[in-house]
Amino acid sequence: MTGQDGTPTGERLAPVFQYCHWCRGFASDVRPVAASDAGSGPRQQSYSACPSHRAQHGLTPLGEQ
Ligand SMILES: [Zn+2]
Repeated sequence: MTGQDGTPTGERLAPVFQYCHWCRGFASDVRPVAASDAGSGPRQQSYSACPSHRAQHGLTPLGEQ
């Protein structure tokens, strides 16, 4: 018998889950956005945000303009 219960194989992330810089973690439906608040940054850096944080900060996903 090969019953391996209780062994979570959570090393595989679904492709729909990507890193949200505002969540500081992985979220679903994350899209790259342009963060214009680059104070001392080198240039306009691209971040990724989930839908809730995009609506919260008024971020526009890249490629939707
Ligand atoms: Zn988020």
